[in-house]
Amino acid sequence: MHLQTVLHRRVRGEGEQQFVYLANSAAILALDAPTMGVVEAFAQESGRDSRQWLAEQAEPERAEETLHDLIDLGVVRPVGEPDAPRAKLPPMPFPLATLVLNVTNKCNLSCTYCYEYGDDKIGAGQGQNGKARMDDKTARDSIDFLMRSSGARPQVSITFFGGETLLNFDAIRTATEYAEQQAAQHGKRVHYSLTTNATLLSDEIVDFLTQHRFGITVSIDGGRQDQDRHRTYKSGKGSFDVIEPRIRHLVAQNRQRNGRAIGARVTVTAGATPVVETYRYLTEELGFDEVGFAPVTASLERDYALGDGGYERLLEEFAVLADDYVAAALNDRPHGFSNLGDLIRELHQGVHKAHPCGAGLGLLGVSTEGELGLCHRFVESKSHSVGSVHDGIDEAVRTDFLEKAHVDNKTDCTQCFAKPLCAGGCYHEAHVRYGEATRANVHYCEWIRGFVDLGLRSYARIQATNPKFLLRFEQS
Ligand code: SF4
Ligand code: SF4
Repeated sequence: MHLQTVLHRRVRGEGEQQFVYLANSAAILALDAPTMGVVEAFAQESGRDSRQWLAEQAEPERAEETLHDLIDLGVVRPVGEPDAPRAKLPPMPFPLATLVLNVTNKCNLSCTYCYEYGDDKIGAGQGQNGKARMDDKTARDSIDFLMRSSGARPQVSITFFGGETLLNFDAIRTATEYAEQQAAQHGKRVHYSLTTNATLLSDEIVDFLTQHRFGITVSIDGGRQDQDRHRTYKSGKGSFDVIEPRIRHLVAQNRQRNGRAIGARVTVTAGATPVVETYRYLTEELGFDEVGFAPVTASLERDYALGDGGYERLLEEFAVLADDYVAAALNDRPHGFSNLGDLIRELHQGVHKAHPCGAGLGLLGVSTEGELGLCHRFVESKSHSVGSVHDGIDEAVRTDFLEKAHVDNKTDCTQCFAKPLCAGGCYHEAHVRYGEATRANVHYCEWIRGFVDLGLRSYARIQATNPKFLLRFEQS
């Protein structure tokens, strides 16, 4: 019989231990060296005749046993045997888990990469017709909508976004206080979060956010030099001196109240300080609990775009920080490199995505006027409207989009080992690049595969030497 391995990735842990990641089930299996040798033997594009292969083995009985084990584990199968079909969608209407309220579409900074790369803003132009600020009524209507649309979920999340979110603190306070009341009536718990540039974090706002246990993400690019290079006011003045004392106050107050982790979100541009140094500065000097890095989204003509070799360099820097993460894990210490922490959690939980993210499924965005979009980035896009908080979700439009966006419809992704985690990538980025939100983001495949590979290697090293560290990722 002609046999072949399923789509997989082989990874080495520490020492002799080796692992295989299966793309059709998202399982990670630890294999000894002889078993990995059998996997390698059948990892040929056209498969291999198993009888002929067995005849060539020094210990055919043992080899046959190993081969049968691999067949039972779903690593090897007859050539041409298809994957088991997957459900197109969960039962619809799917209950909402998260609502992202765009409380304003204005910002008090004019960061170079945000304003110059205007195409990135899907609502640009259309947004000018929308209100700059969400009013209190729309904020309350959004909460009512979330309570109605979240079915029997015991916990829901409300995320506030902008523009600069804190330019409309009134709507945040109104929505939060109203959500507390409504959650009590509906028997639900609510988790709040927001993203901010930190320029407006007054003592009063910090007090409110920490009191309500907000998950807070600060957009910051590093120390003074990195921050002031692109994150400037309209006058061109850098924002570092304004945000630094505010962040220190936020971190101190949050610690005192035993709040949720405070994260930094760094946009990586060409010429920026290496991520390891930035990570150390943000955690050790400013006190952030977690740091996530995102390569800048920019036209290649921009001098801050990650042009030739930029992504490779970033992956190398990620690998250095991943070594730090693994070293901490081996000593049972948590580490705040959130890109890697999130990936290791997904690998450990066997996350197997049919859709790249929750947009349109468990998550929707709300515009300042109450229009519903697939997520916060689509809220002012008329072409991706899925209803309004006043009239509810247009379920036909939502279902149609999700069916088209299923990873099985993305032929570019068919042979990719990273698809259980990537599933084609961000809809918004695909819309900006290709004019079609349901297309695969093939422009960043190498970056994604390189990062998933790094995640698999890090996972394998931890699994091989201190597996109990991974217990923290087990779902209760
Ligand atoms: S977009 Fe690229 S990296 Fe992502 S699943 Fe598809 S082929 Fe793989
Ligand atoms: S990944 Fe893209 S489409 Fe999904 S929620 Fe984030 S911005 Fe929206």
